[in-house]
Amino acid sequence: MKLWLKVVLGFKVCAAALWILGDPHVALIVFFLPDPWVFLQFVLPRQQAFRPAATVFETPRREVWLTIDDGPDPKSTPKVLELLRWHRAKATFFVVGRQVEKHPELARQIVAEGHTIGNHTHTHPSWSFWSAFPSRTAAEIDGCVGALLLADAPFEHYFRPPVGVRNPFLAGELAARGMVLVLWEARGLDGGRRAPAAALRSIAGQIRPGGILLSHEAGIRPEQRLEFVTLLLEHLSNEGYACVLPERGSLRQSRATLPDA
Ligand SMILES: [Zn+2]
Repeated sequence: MKLWLKVVLGFKVCAAALWILGDPHVALIVFFLPDPWVFLQFVLPRQQAFRPAATVFETPRREVWLTIDDGPDPKSTPKVLELLRWHRAKATFFVVGRQVEKHPELARQIVAEGHTIGNHTHTHPSWSFWSAFPSRTAAEIDGCVGALLLADAPFEHYFRPPVGVRNPFLAGELAARGMVLVLWEARGLDGGRRAPAAALRSIAGQIRPGGILLSHEAGIRPEQRLEFVTLLLEHLSNEGYACVLPERGSLRQSRATLPDA
């Protein structure tokens, strides 16, 4: 059993003991004490307890890794590809399996234009992936792999869960498949309701060489997401950043492990 799970269960057992011994108030506090920590491990990309996740990469140059989630979609992918071409930028598209099933030609086009593809689950279960058991976690990973194989679109062994939220079984499932968990260092929360200009202001302050950047396409606001990608690429060009595809071996969990840290 993992250490973190032992510690959390230890708190719960202590709480039960306190309850039996007649101190229900303290028992209640002890019972929920580790839960905020567990929650943070799920949602914050820099937290590494559940599974080491790549958030940066090693580079001596002014480079970033642009990642684009939630496609492919005919409403946005061709335009995103055009933007990338214009800026001579390369990106990794973390695609959703069922979207690939609907638009296999777009998955192939992404690769044909020199970009790469990562796995973003088969159905993008934003609200339930955190509680998925091993069989469902595996089905989400393998479903996306199956869609990419059927589409004849080569892909990298990179995985990103929906909204970056992990579950305790994800580590084992990824390890069994030789897959790397890729999260991000910088994001502008462009996937929600935030206006593209505001999202750019938010991400701009977080961008540094070697950073993994999160952006989105498709989804329920494809125009808004596309506008953010447009602004972000312009910003990166203006700031002299190159968007590259880092080698798997250069990926790191945190900036503290980079040579210039
Ligand atoms: Zn997503």
